[in-house]
Amino acid sequence: MPKYGNIKNIVGIISGKGGVGKSTVTGIIATHLRKKGYKVGVLDADITGPSMPRFFGINEKRAQMIPIDDKNNFKFIPVETEMGIKVISMNLLTAEEAQPVIWRGPVVTGVLNQMYTDTVWDELDYLLIDMPPGTGDIALTVMQSFPIDEIVVVSTPQDMVSMIVKKVVIMAEKVGVPIRGVVENMAYIECDGCGTKMRVFSKKSAEEHADYLGLPLICELPINVDLTEALEEGKAESYVAENALYDMMFSSLY
Ligand SMILES: [Zn+2]
Repeated sequence: MPKYGNIKNIVGIISGKGGVGKSTVTGIIATHLRKKGYKVGVLDADITGPSMPRFFGINEKRAQMIPIDDKNNFKFIPVETEMGIKVISMNLLTAEEAQPVIWRGPVVTGVLNQMYTDTVWDELDYLLIDMPPGTGDIALTVMQSFPIDEIVVVSTPQDMVSMIVKKVVIMAEKVGVPIRGVVENMAYIECDGCGTKMRVFSKKSAEEHADYLGLPLICELPINVDLTEALEEGKAESYVAENALYDMMFSSLY
């Protein structure tokens, strides 16, 4: 698939499995980039659990579908977040958010391709793709067919030293997409009283974990109940934008 001339960088965010906060990290990086003044788009390709609309609090909205011929072909107009990030997701295209996607693999990858090629992105400095987790057919097809420039790996401390993450790293290497590094999510809890960082899942440091994977460590992110709450209220974007921690964490990346 050719890359659109008006999209400068495409970054895929991957994980070995679901539930490690891959979508949250995608949302944080998107917000960080937007705050820096870049034009940012997010393609929610995690059809196992499309959650980007919820992060940005736009899950009640629907992307406009504009027919371009009489053969059921459409252009999608992405939904813009409060800060102006353009988001496209299966959950913005189906009639209702809860509607399950029960299409088979080839149909799913076809729809994902369409979400990339048929969305009116205009000009973008960065398009972030929240990738399907794991090393299944859909994840592999997306990685092979999308013109991804680089990949960011998200993992929790427990998984860093398991085959789960190693496998997805090997998949990316085989496809030949450069990996920027790894984000260790849910790495610690900070004590409200004294600010001590407690590593509840692993005695080893994030650096040691990243070394084991053979990847540079981008940052480690805490378990943050305030962010979880903001997410539930659809206010994660403004929460992240107002929290200097996240700019600090990703300043080495972008
Ligand atoms: Zn304390």
